[in-house]
Amino acid sequence: MVIYTVYGIIVSPELNLFYEKAEIYDEDWIRISEDGSETAYKMPMSLPLSATETATFYTILPDTVNDGMYLSINTGKCFTITIEGEEICRFDNRISKLPGNITKTVTVPVRLKETYAGKKLTIVFTNGIYDRRIVNAAYIGPLMGIVIQMSKNYALQLVLATVLALAAIATIGIFAYIEKRDNKNAPLIYLAEGILAICLWVIFDSPLYQLVTGTFFYDGVVGFMLVVTMGFPFLLYFDAITEYKRHTIFRICEVVIVANFVIFTFLHMTRIVSYDKLLIYFDSILTDIMVVILIVTLRNYICQKEKKHKYVMMGMLCLSVFSFIEIVVTILYTIYPFKVDIGGLFVLFGMLTLLFFAILDQVKIFDALKNETQAAIAATKAKSDFLANMSHEIRTPINAIMGMNEMILRECEQENIREYARDVSSASEALLEIVNDILDFSKIEAGKLELVLTDYDLGELLYDVTTLVNMKAEDKGLKFIIHVDEKLPSILHGDEKRIREIITNILNNAVKYTENGFVKLNVTGNVADNTAMLTISISDSGQGIKKEDLESIFEGFTQVNLKKNRTIEGTGLGLSITKRLVELMEGSISVESEYEKGSTFTVSIPQKIVSFDKMGNYIDHRHALAKENGINLKELKIPNAKILVVDDTALNLKVISKILGKTEAMITCVASGDEMLKLIKENYYDIILLDHMMPNMDGIEALKIAKTMDENKCRNTPYIAMTANAIVGAKEMYLEAGFDDYLSKPVRMDELCNILIRYIPNISYSS
Ligand code: ADP
Repeated sequence: MVIYTVYGIIVSPELNLFYEKAEIYDEDWIRISEDGSETAYKMPMSLPLSATETATFYTILPDTVNDGMYLSINTGKCFTITIEGEEICRFDNRISKLPGNITKTVTVPVRLKETYAGKKLTIVFTNGIYDRRIVNAAYIGPLMGIVIQMSKNYALQLVLATVLALAAIATIGIFAYIEKRDNKNAPLIYLAEGILAICLWVIFDSPLYQLVTGTFFYDGVVGFMLVVTMGFPFLLYFDAITEYKRHTIFRICEVVIVANFVIFTFLHMTRIVSYDKLLIYFDSILTDIMVVILIVTLRNYICQKEKKHKYVMMGMLCLSVFSFIEIVVTILYTIYPFKVDIGGLFVLFGMLTLLFFAILDQVKIFDALKNETQAAIAATKAKSDFLANMSHEIRTPINAIMGMNEMILRECEQENIREYARDVSSASEALLEIVNDILDFSKIEAGKLELVLTDYDLGELLYDVTTLVNMKAEDKGLKFIIHVDEKLPSILHGDEKRIREIITNILNNAVKYTENGFVKLNVTGNVADNTAMLTISISDSGQGIKKEDLESIFEGFTQVNLKKNRTIEGTGLGLSITKRLVELMEGSISVESEYEKGSTFTVSIPQKIVSFDKMGNYIDHRHALAKENGINLKELKIPNAKILVVDDTALNLKVISKILGKTEAMITCVASGDEMLKLIKENYYDIILLDHMMPNMDGIEALKIAKTMDENKCRNTPYIAMTANAIVGAKEMYLEAGFDDYLSKPVRMDELCNILIRYIPNISYSS
């Protein structure tokens, strides 16, 4: 394409857009003084005028003028152009549609006609409000030719500013995307915004841009606004680079900028003092702020032991060098005006290098962050592995304690021993709860807690939760008031187990922290489309929470009012887990409390509706359900079922077989995967409960072999993983490994019976 264009330019230049030529029209001007005398003038010319003075110039237009030719004048004065008495153009401050004055030296192209050829063109300059002394060179020719002529003077800055602006926009876009995607902070965006502001200002200020767009009213004002505010993003950037150590200094500078913006804009809009007359203040304030930034950043860098942001400092050094060159060039320009105006070019180069180094710096920081994140992920994995092991180690003995204790409670008749066993039972329940809480909390911390969504019966859930708490409330002599909206839908979809946990946690706290009076549960809901917004509100007349403690009770391991609660057990994890669970369900939790009077916790959780049937009275609902199911799980009898239990811990085998013993099923226990493999070659089992962590061959390996073995009578038998490894994702892991389901230890009677009912449906039940 480029070759074709160049070829075209050479072969037929007259068709080329850029072939159009304009002339600099600077020589043939004659000024008519007030006394009528005439003097020749050459542009650019200095034209100091008082408020009431005018200056009249004339020129004789060339002999050939085509339609479509323009005379372009660049000036800071107001003016009127006439051709032999006919006014063809007027430029006056009053034509501005914006409040305030025009702030720029304007470039006005005046369209000429063929009939103007050889005629006398007169310009009368008046001072107006806006006073720039210079009338710059005029051009005559086609518009594109004038643009090309002017480009010789201004194109360098314009092109560089446009390139830099595009680079800044790209930087903002790319890093904003990375910021959002990786949830990282990229202060570089501020710097890019500052640089973009500078570029826009240079672009808006370019006569070339103005000639092409003709928008000197608006961008003139915007240009000044940019100058006043452009320090702001730089302050934000360097505040972040210096790690907010000199935040106050930066803040003061920011306040100064905002105040200036408000004051200067007010003065300009009300025409008290125009922006351009305030330029000297703008410049000095901006320079001061840049110097402050330089000193603060440099000092911070020097004081740092471990040097950070080396690249930014290199960028600053380059900018300083380029700015110095710019100052030298500007001084030289006033002494020996060059042909080409290169004002601003060096600062733009400086900004370009600063942006380049700042991008390098940001990329380096992101790289370091990535490494840190990887290290953190590795650490979290190590923590989660540790938790898996710890959960196994702690839950296994608790499992044994609870199981054996259950046997004692069932089989022992001696009342004093039953009493001890009940104490063991409640202590081990509490211990299990703490272990579970710590595990849950760590899971949430590692972002690994996932909701398990199922359809559930709201009435059943509320019945179970309130029955448990009711006993505790009765023990303490508290009144437990329950109000449940009967119009709530009966079947919902959500994480039932976690909703139970949320309500139980708050209800338990209410009972725990109330000595006398009441605990009240209020469950209502709003139905919209397919979703019910459940609102669960739990109030008590207990000790209440001090205002200053209200925030912290939701933080992990935080307990408040310790003096009073010395005797109350707790880990300070309950509410923090509750809050995070509620948030995971996209709900909200809030608390209102008055110290020594009581508290009200309110939870709102959206739940999908499965059945719109009204729940009615939740107690009746629950009883009806129990009747419908027919089977009392605890009294399940499956005498025909053949069950194989595989576990390397003898105590565990004993516990499970004792629990299963009640069902009268035929139970076989073995202690290793090898033994299981031998047995399934010979015998059929209705269900196999297989422990995961075993020496030599673990449960997953044993299952893999069993599934690929030719000789296997239990090919279609359900295999249930049985493990103390309770971390999140465990269930998915076991299902992926080929297991049909998963039972976490300590194995509970109810859960075990549920599994039996689900997986061996063809055997006969009796209860
Ligand atoms: P803990 O295991 O200590 O109960 P939580 O996270 O459940 O931990 O609660 C944090 C703290 O909030 C408690 O230590 C207690 O001081 C306070 N708190 C929670 N619920 C109530 C309540 N209903 N009344 C008074 N204080 C409460």
